[in-house]
Amino acid sequence: MAVDYHLEGQAAVVTGSTSGIGQAMAAALTAQGVSVVLNGFGEAARIEADRAAMQARAAAGAKVLYHGADMTRPAEIAELIAFATSELGRLDILVNNAGIQHVAPVDEFPDEKWAAILAINLSSVFHATKHALPIMKAQGRGRVVNIASAHGLVASPFKSAYVAAKHGVVGFTKSCALEVARQGITVNAICPGYVKTPLVEMQIGDQAKARGIAPERVVEEVILAAQPNKAFVEYDQLAGLLLYLVSDLGASTTGAALSIDGGWTAA
Ligand code: NAD
Repeated sequence: MAVDYHLEGQAAVVTGSTSGIGQAMAAALTAQGVSVVLNGFGEAARIEADRAAMQARAAAGAKVLYHGADMTRPAEIAELIAFATSELGRLDILVNNAGIQHVAPVDEFPDEKWAAILAINLSSVFHATKHALPIMKAQGRGRVVNIASAHGLVASPFKSAYVAAKHGVVGFTKSCALEVARQGITVNAICPGYVKTPLVEMQIGDQAKARGIAPERVVEEVILAAQPNKAFVEYDQLAGLLLYLVSDLGASTTGAALSIDGGWTAA
């Protein structure tokens, strides 16, 4: 049975959508007729080629634009939201996805990495939401979806900044959801386990070489050690949850931290 999400004509911002999960989420929205402002870093020509390719695959009427705001800079985040609203005439959906990682013991963790992870993975969620909410309140409807992580619910060693930021995103999600619950706006966090983004694919090859074992063993024994089903989360599975949340089907789901992690956080 094909589900019709009735999203045609809506407008979205997806932060960190020049790669991986954000790019897949933006593509899923544009395929449903949602106009999207892409954001993120990368080589200008590649960003433009990816934008044009997404535009070509978008449903009729959906525009695909790009804004290069740096998520560590609050003023640029404000500009991103203002750009989306002026170019698209409205803002219905905000997907806070931009994120980075750094792995090191706490007592060796570089101060600048801590600051960057907190700024991009946590504070940018606050700044973007702060500027999006007045527009959503005026429209009487809105959807904020924060891409947190299984690490928003449980911890792993050597990822203190990432785990702190993602737990912060889950807390922010709950507080914000309570504030706007009567205004037609939902705020939720998606908490994925491992997703095979380009970053993770690279790690598989590197680890296989370093350990002298087959890539399949790296996946099962190293990368997916904490994920009971031993399978990566797929982009389509994340897109399905996103489309549920942003459509009217998700109207009663708010303040939730939704696991999509093959059982990781059940353990
Ligand atoms: P990715 O590296 O493929 O994409 C990250 C995106 O963020 C890129 O578009 C990058 O340009 C952008 N970005 C980084 N710094 C930025 C900045 N200062 N300003 C603007 N954009 C910036 O990573 P991904 O794996 O797709 O991760 C996306 C989100 O999903 C992150 O928040 C990550 O924590 C989360 N997540 C990923 C996984 C996984 O297994 N890949 C699992 C759980 C959660």
